[in-house]
Parts: sequence; C-alpha cells; structure tokens
Amino acid sequence: MMGTTHALVGVFVATAVAQAIPEFGPVALAAAVIGSVFPDFDLYSGHRKTLHFPVYYSILAVPALALALAAPGTATVAVGLFLVGAALHSTMDALGGGLELEPWRETSEKAVYDHYRSRWVAPRRWIRYDGAPEDLGFAALLAAPALALHDAPIRWFVLAVLAVSAGYTLLRKPLAKLWAAVVPMIPHGVRPYVPERFHETDEDGRGRILSDAD
Ligand SMILES: [Zn+2]
Repeated sequence: MMGTTHALVGVFVATAVAQAIPEFGPVALAAAVIGSVFPDFDLYSGHRKTLHFPVYYSILAVPALALALAAPGTATVAVGLFLVGAALHSTMDALGGGLELEPWRETSEKAVYDHYRSRWVAPRRWIRYDGAPEDLGFAALLAAPALALHDAPIRWFVLAVLAVSAGYTLLRKPLAKLWAAVVPMIPHGVRPYVPERFHETDEDGRGRILSDAD
C-alpha cells in the first residue's frame, strides 16, 4: 500500500489514543505517524527487509505499550506509538502486493521479509498494489475519524495526505510505464546504483525491459 496509507494508519491509531489521553494527543500523533512511515526509509537499500521487522517490532511494541500505560509520559508514549506504527506498517505490507515495479502483474512472491523466520512473506494482495483504487478507499476510511474529530491544523494535514494519495493513485500506472521507457536509456555504468526492483532482471541477471508485451 501507499506510504500515505501507512501514514494514515498512524493518524488513525493516534486519533484513538487522543480520545483516551488527550494531553498526549500531539506526541501520539507525531510518534505514530513517524513510526508508520519509518520502515520505508529502506526504499533504496533492501526495501521491505532492511527496516521492516514484522515480528520484532510487534514483540517490542507490547512491553513498550505496557510501560506507556503504567507510566504515561512524553517519552514512553512516543516510544510505544512509534513501535506500534512500525509494527503495523511491517505486518500490513504482507496484505498488499509484491515487491516489484509493476505489482499488478503479480509476479513477485516477496511482500515483506520476516527476519525471525529468515524468509520472505508472500503478498496477500487484499490491496492489489500501492496506488490501487482500494488503497485510496482504505486511506479515506482511515482518515475519516481524524477528519471528524480534529480541527486545523491536523485536519489540513490529513486532507493534504489524502490529496497526495489521490494524485499517486491517478499516476501510479502511467509513472511505472514512463519509468519502464526510461530504463533502457540509463547508462550501464549507472545501473548498479539503481535499486534492483526499478529495473527487473531475468534469470541470467540481464536487465529486462518492461513492456505491455510481457
Ligand atoms: Zn513498507
């Protein structure tokens, strides 16, 4: 799913927390949103593996949340919600599409890496690919409580995230096609620096140019 959908998962969780403990609303929002987008900072290096820990984030989130409940404070709430956000992101990546440039082709069986079992988790494809119409619909559902319960500036932030999601949904396939057209023009000396999934390779490791004929 989209990075913005992940961010809105954080917004959704933080909105619930803010109802229970309003004084920690702002720190909960910041920590949950940052935690929800954090794993994707590995986009250019071992994407969905380097910073994605579906099992370990989840295990760590339990005592962190217990500590936040036992001793509520800025630090404990921040750490707890950061870990919840990162755990939700990493586990929910398994519900989306595979790790490939054009996930709607459904050729990749890699959704997210499970470091605990040392293997890739296969994509469930409940949301077929990032930027799919159902991804945008899910993002809107996640945003609804925050839009109803928060005023500006949080409401504006959520609306801006939704607007970016809508733009991405419209451009997702055209941009992938454009990139597929650009790949053959990339000099060979530069290709090693382009993340693998941005130029798919065949069994022999040769660059494969994507086209509708594939
Ligand atoms: Zn991710």
